Amino acid sequence: MLNVDQLKNIKGKVVVCRVDFNVPLKDGAIRDDNRVRAALPTIQKLVKEGARVVLFSHLGKVKHKEAPEVVEAQKAKNNLAVVAPRLGELLGQKVAFCPETRGDAFVNAVKALKDGEVLLIQNTRYEKGEEKNDPELAKIWASVADAYVMDAFGSAHRAHASTYGIPEILKAEGKPVACGYLVEKEIANLMRCVDVKDSDRPYVAILGGLKVSDKIKVIDSLLKKCDKILIGGAMAYTFKKALGYEIGSSPVEDDQLDYARNCFKEANGRIVLPVDSVVTDAFEGWTKKEVVGDNVPAGYQGMDIGPKTAELFASEIAKAKMIFWNGPMGVFEQKDFQNGTVAICKAVAGLKGAFSVCGGGDSAAAIKEFGYKESFSHVSTGGGASLEMIENDGHLPGVDILK
Ligand code: ADP
Ligand code: MG
Repeated sequence: MLNVDQLKNIKGKVVVCRVDFNVPLKDGAIRDDNRVRAALPTIQKLVKEGARVVLFSHLGKVKHKEAPEVVEAQKAKNNLAVVAPRLGELLGQKVAFCPETRGDAFVNAVKALKDGEVLLIQNTRYEKGEEKNDPELAKIWASVADAYVMDAFGSAHRAHASTYGIPEILKAEGKPVACGYLVEKEIANLMRCVDVKDSDRPYVAILGGLKVSDKIKVIDSLLKKCDKILIGGAMAYTFKKALGYEIGSSPVEDDQLDYARNCFKEANGRIVLPVDSVVTDAFEGWTKKEVVGDNVPAGYQGMDIGPKTAELFASEIAKAKMIFWNGPMGVFEQKDFQNGTVAICKAVAGLKGAFSVCGGGDSAAAIKEFGYKESFSHVSTGGGASLEMIENDGHLPGVDILK
């Protein structure tokens, strides 16, 4: 696989670069520009080489099967135009924005570029063919490109038109495709959690967050690689219920109970579940908050791991040589339920000489908010992508196609 340094003679050439500008928005403004910053080294390199840089990214979701007015509302909400000025500030040069993803406006905007200039194209998901990897759409986009650079690690687990279709066509035409610096760095770090060396054991995975069904395959793969899996967050209640505990009105996925039971049995003591919880009488606007043990009483729901669990998990983390963490331990967006997630951060910060990776949009936001970003060896910009890399033994479609 080529990297961006190995792309030769790109001065004056149109280099299409897939970046991940899927930034969190609040009231139409960028709430966190981490992902824009993460793409800067690659963009700066292309600019320095005198390439004509055309950036593609998705932003949020556009569900094309919905009624037209719903689709229009989703498009309005996920208009990528908001990113162009911020990118311009960070790069220190003007960034042009093309509101169209095809047609004359698109082709002319690319043609108007001079060497070293940057153009951002509207949200790729405005096109319904993007997520289907529609060959016709990929052809339109590939037709303006002399070379392709993949730097959207957060989207590398998706074989979409912009992540897979374009490089596939360019490769067939004998044009160069390469990975950017961010993708290169992510792969190098995450591969350590995939191909586990003996010197990195004990290897402890920490899983939390919301959905068991989203993370099922990764539990299976992690069981093959890890020495211990600590499970917190909402996910834990599906396991607790499967093992016969009361969970009150905690979030649960009833169709995953058999899976959770089998998984726990197969793990043979290597899955560690919470022994207590912080519970409330409602998710929002609660009036009662308590710490309970293994069972959550009726009328209450688990919002965070309890203090005993935090201690138990911290003692497991203290023994680790390598950590992979995805998913917060509680509803960390609310102040009262941050302790579990903070406890994990502190335990990781206390490790000496261990290798620690955190992947996941919310997990990464949490550790940044709590001031522990520097305590981790690597904080991945990709949640789904980092999980899928572990699931698929290091393979991601958007990376494999570059090889
Ligand atoms: P990531 O983005 O790091 O992969 P997820 O998206 O899977 O993580 O999950 C994050 C969400 O899980 C957060 O919004 C958090 O509030 C929620 N969560 C964690 N624990 C609970 C819980 N006990 N009940 C409800 N939601 C929870
Ligand atoms: Mg999330």
